Amino acid sequence: MMYDIVIIGAGPAGLTAALYAGRAEKRVLVIEKENFGGQITFSPKIENYPTQMEISGSAFAEQLLSQVQAQNVDVELDTVTGISRDENGFTVQGDYAAYQGKTVILATGAKHRVLGLPDEERLVGAGVCYCAVCDGAFFRGQKVAVIGGGNTALQDAILLSELCEQVTIVQNLPVLTGERILQARIEKIANIKVITEAKVTALCGESALEHIEIQYDNGLQEQLAVNGVFVAIGQQPDNDAFASYAALDDYGYLIADERCLTDTPGLFVAGDCRTKAIRQIVTATADGATAALAACRFLDGQ
Ligand SMILES: Cc1cc2nc3c(=O)[nH]c(=O)nc-3n(C[C@H](O)[C@H](O)[C@H](O)COP(=O)(O)OP(=O)(O)OC[C@H]3O[C@@H](n4cnc5c(N)ncnc54)[C@H](O)[C@@H]3O)c2cc1C
Repeated sequence: MMYDIVIIGAGPAGLTAALYAGRAEKRVLVIEKENFGGQITFSPKIENYPTQMEISGSAFAEQLLSQVQAQNVDVELDTVTGISRDENGFTVQGDYAAYQGKTVILATGAKHRVLGLPDEERLVGAGVCYCAVCDGAFFRGQKVAVIGGGNTALQDAILLSELCEQVTIVQNLPVLTGERILQARIEKIANIKVITEAKVTALCGESALEHIEIQYDNGLQEQLAVNGVFVAIGQQPDNDAFASYAALDDYGYLIADERCLTDTPGLFVAGDCRTKAIRQIVTATADGATAALAACRFLDGQ
């Protein structure tokens, strides 16, 4: 089947693009590789999306997905490995099938950044975690560290403080960089300790994590006994598969401006996968709408 619009990625950007394109009565396919809703499903609490005083990431994603499913939109669970283009449009290659679209919207988001330490991969699932919402409950009553000092790290620390005996935030900068409101909350929680100007240099343990080694900027070193470490040091994109049709910046983000256009006619980008200043749901959904309407204009002009 030839779709009007194939959307790659079902996070807030991709799903919002599907909502707009579905309402414009285009034939739409959304392809998602693992998690309908995207990164936001890992957030315990969203408090900054207009109209929502407080909502969990998974509830937000469920509502958005139901809104999309009320439109006549197809969805597939598949990992897209590349795209190609000919005079009819695009072929989107997945692990299981190839899909045809007159236009494509890339909404592949970003994924968590790793520390890059020698034993990190070996200890994943044995103390090394990247998602407090998913794995926090495994560390009930235990000691954990959160690596990072931005919004995600602070939200993770608050969530973990309700489950764990002790939470230590390890931040490489002199100050925490997350929102003031989160920092103020952290200051009032007795079982959260904050260490600044310090880097984790080793993750140690045989069959499971036993302690981490910390190097302070002033040269001091410390061993911190923890059962779990939650890495929250930001995101990185994974766009190499699309680089022959859309240029990437030095960090691997797809280059596109507020109009969500690429240099390839019929190819659009939306959300965290593109160059932008602020990566949040509100900017991702705005991009989804912009990209979908740009794709509709492109199709209607054909
Ligand atoms: C823990 C956490 C808390 C957050 N809290 C907030 C908050 O409170 N408020 C806020 O505004 N923002 C928050 N954010 C940020 C917000 O989640 C992101 O800005 C938003 O999800 C970006 O949406 P997106 O659709 O661009 O990308 P994503 O949400 O990353 O979705 C991209 C989707 O594409 C899929 N995909 C990627 N590659 C492929 C492929 N090759 N084939 C098929 N599918 C693919 C991925 O599996 C994913 O589902 C938080 C993020 C995290 C991780």
